[in-house]
Amino acid sequence: MSRTLFENALILTVDDQNTVYRSGWLLVEGDKIAALGNGTYSGDREGVASVNAAGRALLPGFVDAHTHVAGSLFKGLLEDDPNGFYGFALPMEGRLTREDVYHLSLLGAWECMQAGITTVNEIYHYSLQVAQALDEIGIRAVVSQNIVDVDIGALRYNDYTRDPAKGEAFLEENIQLIERYHGRDNGRITCRVGPHATDTVSMELAKKCVAVGQKYGVGFHTHVAQSEREVAQLKAGYGLTPVEFLRETGLLGDHLMAAHCIYTTPSDIRLLAESGTHMLHCTQGLGRDSDFPPTKEMFAAGVDIVLGTDWLTMDPWDNMRFAIGLNRQHGVDHATAGALEMLRRSTIQPARALGLGDRIGSLEPGKQADLLLLDTTGPNLTPMFHDPVVTIVYNACRGDVTDVMVDGRFTVRGRRLQTQKEEDILLLGQTTAMDVYHRHVVGLH
Ligand SMILES: [Zn+2]
Repeated sequence: MSRTLFENALILTVDDQNTVYRSGWLLVEGDKIAALGNGTYSGDREGVASVNAAGRALLPGFVDAHTHVAGSLFKGLLEDDPNGFYGFALPMEGRLTREDVYHLSLLGAWECMQAGITTVNEIYHYSLQVAQALDEIGIRAVVSQNIVDVDIGALRYNDYTRDPAKGEAFLEENIQLIERYHGRDNGRITCRVGPHATDTVSMELAKKCVAVGQKYGVGFHTHVAQSEREVAQLKAGYGLTPVEFLRETGLLGDHLMAAHCIYTTPSDIRLLAESGTHMLHCTQGLGRDSDFPPTKEMFAAGVDIVLGTDWLTMDPWDNMRFAIGLNRQHGVDHATAGALEMLRRSTIQPARALGLGDRIGSLEPGKQADLLLLDTTGPNLTPMFHDPVVTIVYNACRGDVTDVMVDGRFTVRGRRLQTQKEEDILLLGQTTAMDVYHRHVVGLH
């Protein structure tokens, strides 16, 4: 069994007491954290590879509660376009092939790991290729298939024509995904069922998704109330709000990861809180689109809010700062929208929401060794006072992450990807993205 000892590190454990060791050590044995403490390690050093982490901080890897890693495709295409999501991105997604999604997933996963994300809760098209890429690159992942029974490229025309056969085919791919990948590599890859959004699956299809989840004992991942278009569609079709639709289908509950929840009513918020549904708050993307959920009321009601990056830019550091700034602008108090809270909502809290809280999300003995090392010697992290959590959350950048470990294996070391050739990922990512873009733009004319 391999043994790695990190020594002389500033350790932010993010355990229940938020213990910080100013100069501590952490021993990894095999895929797990064996022990950690302050001061000098005095145990047995036989077969131990020592890493001198002086000048570096050791943190649990980030658990990204909601993303689409292949969505890094759209970086630079949507950010300044107010109609970019429905008008450009969703129609362009229709051009993607399985091979495109595989290459773009590797690109996005490398971006995640470079920033210190060790777990992604992922939902996208061609989930078999997404899972293959995430498995190969060595990140921890919870993968769902995007299930829809409409043409998402036609939503820009408010065309919601249902195609049940299409919905069945996507559900079938989700079943294949679960059968092939759920529990793979000692549980590093797990799966969920992914009805895409409350307006892009019919009530009937959503109920079938619930039945599949119950059969396999897996949870669900979806998008909720992300546009006024979605709210209007559900009102016209069923006389329900998106959250009421979730309740009617059986999706609402502790087993559901529900992204966005922007257009929600006070009664919806009560339903989310009472059911234990997890609200995936993607602050960086929402800030760009100037959409914002009623988080002040959600925090007050006790909704479980956890942070996700949601494609384009997958940067958990910026995301925490967006979460602090935007929530404060929307009336959330400084402690709730503060450094420690947002670090917890990016690590241990999403881990618990995913049902993985006993395995990941904090640095504690017996947990899987999913962690990151951060260079704290730069001017952006100097000076460091009595509360390093505040200094780090407000000032650390993805470029400060030097090493990343998943399941006790270095996936990033000295800022270089260890599991794949990063030059190949970047080159294939760029050429694939250009190719999809050109196919789409030519196809439009
Ligand atoms: Zn999303």
